[in-house]
This record gives sequence, structure tokens and C-alpha cells, in this order.
Amino acid sequence: MSATPLQKGWLTKAGAFAVEKVECPAPGGSVDLSKPPVGVLHTTEGSFDSALGEFKVHHAPTFLVSSGRILQLLPLGASAAALKHDVPPESNRWARAQIEVAGFSQEDPWQFDPATLARVAALMGALARAASIPLTRPFPDAMPPKPWATTTFSRRTSGKWGTVAGWFGHVEVPSGNAHWDPGALRWSELLARAKSVSGSPGAPVGPPPVDHGPVTPKSAFHAAPRVPADKCVQFLLARDHGEYHTGDIRAIVRHYYETAGSVGLDPLLLVAQMSEETEHLTSFWSQRPRCNPAGIGVTGKPGEGVSFRKWEIGIRAHVGRVLAYAIPAGSGSPRQAKLIAEALSHRALPPDRLGVAPTLAGLSGRWAKDPNYAAKIAAVANQIRRGGTDGPG
Ligand SMILES: [Zn+2]
Repeated sequence: MSATPLQKGWLTKAGAFAVEKVECPAPGGSVDLSKPPVGVLHTTEGSFDSALGEFKVHHAPTFLVSSGRILQLLPLGASAAALKHDVPPESNRWARAQIEVAGFSQEDPWQFDPATLARVAALMGALARAASIPLTRPFPDAMPPKPWATTTFSRRTSGKWGTVAGWFGHVEVPSGNAHWDPGALRWSELLARAKSVSGSPGAPVGPPPVDHGPVTPKSAFHAAPRVPADKCVQFLLARDHGEYHTGDIRAIVRHYYETAGSVGLDPLLLVAQMSEETEHLTSFWSQRPRCNPAGIGVTGKPGEGVSFRKWEIGIRAHVGRVLAYAIPAGSGSPRQAKLIAEALSHRALPPDRLGVAPTLAGLSGRWAKDPNYAAKIAAVANQIRRGGTDGPG
């Protein structure tokens, strides 16, 4: 079962652009859905036609993009073959999509031409929805010192591959890879563009909810919402919810969906953690005027804990704090960095906690001392998923 959903098959559109189906050999089996959802970006280092000619024989990525076309070469769900996998860890099967862009990488900071940029961004926006690949990066734009074209390049050996969701360049994939594409690409511009095309004003924030199976401690925070907001509202209303009224509950859940969705986190996991921490909004610290949604700074000593002026602020502090746990220090988009800074201004976070929890499991023994903390949050999330009160699922 997939913790973060992947739509199988063929896209027909990416934003405003048509996606053409040009099926190529896919000898690599299926994508490994147990890993955090990632995509890999390449440049062809040659012409569109010569690249396509090769992909019809071997080494096909999932997509080939030029300034005029978006081609899908393999169905979603099938492993692409544009990476080497000479030595562990696995490479191709851990990538939910690989995009080859017709063109040449550069060693100085660079960007695709406008027509290509628009197509790559639209495709990444579509893949955020279809394959739950968040529009984030595990690394900053500024490249470390060369050499990059070596299997021992520091980003390949950083341990991020297979543990952190988002978009990687070929230059950042281990497993015996030595290509350095896409070089010093200005990723943050590309991802900002992808975000702007993946949502439109008035539309729900973030990708549409898709639920492909139970939440476990291995479930990634970076994911499309696993359930619609209504299910969270129903769950809380079905239980004692302290001093809060139906309208308050709806507003609290909406703030979670907006805030978590805006930075690529699954709001279900945040709402489940809030419910676990506050005993579904009945705990002392969750009541007004404290409005503390997740036991932030609450140690058990009398009076010790953080109060928030209103729920909206407490939710931003909660989501930003989880985000700081979920992504490597300094790796976020400007929007993510801003939310983290705001959250940590309410209560600092020791540096050894940054980036330790790409999945729920990382919170156990850290956010709370309880070694079963992640399992407990997963259990609440699954109760919300199933609806009703209890029972198998
Ligand atoms: Zn490549």
C-alpha cells in the first residue's frame, strides 16, 4: 500500500499544455512506493530527436520536455531507466518520475528558456498532484565546490536520496551515478513557477486528496492530503471537543489545510497529531486563551507551556515546527523558511532536531518521549480516514 498516492498511467495535460504519449520500453518494473516521493530532473546534453531515438531503445525517462512539447514515454507507476544503478542504494525504482529536458546544463547559475521553463514547471505542478512529489528540494540552489561529475560528490553521499521527498537532479543521485546534470540550475525559480501553476486563486490549497491506504509511522509528512477536510471535522465533532463549537472546529481544520497545504505537508497528519496532543481539543493547554494545538513547550511543570493569541497563530506555529522537523535545515522554499522562522520564534528548536522527521517515525522520542508516539498519531489518522468511531480498516 502506498503512503503517498501515485496515480498510475498516462497524463493528458500538464497545466495548459498537452502531454503526448510516446511509449518506450520500460524494463525496470514498478516504482517502489514505500520511499518518500521524489522526482529526478535531467538534461539530454544533445538534441531532442537524438535523445528520443535513444529512449526508444533504452534508458527512457518518464517524460521528455522541450520548448515545444511534453512527451510521456512510460506510464506513471513504471520505473524509468535514466539513472545508473551500479551499486546500492536503488536509484530508478525510487523515483516516481524522471524528466529529461532537451538542452545543456551549465556550471554557472542558469535557467531554462521561457518556453521550456513553462512546460517543465507545468509538468512538475501536475506531478505534485498525480504522484505526490512535493515542489521542494533537499538542497539549496548554490552548488558546493566542484568536482560534481563524480560518484563521490557530497550531495550524492549526503543520505538524502531515499529519505527526503522532493526534486533531485541527476547530480544528486548516488548508486554509481557520475553525471552532473542539471548543474547549477536555479531550482527555486522553477519550483516557485511550478507552485504558481499547480494552484489557482480560489482553488483549494494544495493537491486534491487521495487516499491509497493506511497511515503508518513510515508515512511521509510531505504528501498530498490523504483525506478531505470534512473527515477531520467529522472526527472531532463526533468526540468531546472542549469549549469549541462546530464553527470553531471547521475554522481550525480549515487553517490546518491551508497552512499545511501551502508548504506541501499532509494536513491529516497535523490534525491527527493535534488531536492526540490535545485529547481532541479537551486538554487544558488547548483551551482559550492558551490555544496551544500540540503541547508546544508543555513539559508537565505547572504553568510551563506556550500560549497563542489565537488558533490561527498556534496552527502556524505547529505546522512550521513540524516542517522544521521534516525538511533538512536550510533546504526549504522561501515560503517554507518563513513559516519555520515564525514557528521557531515562539519556541526554539535544538539544531539536532532539524530534518530528523521526514516521516512520522522521526517524531517518536523527539517531539514526545513516547517511543510509540508516531504509531499513536498514525492510529488517530486512520480513525479519521475510516470515519465513524472505530472498527477495522
Ligand atoms: Zn541525467
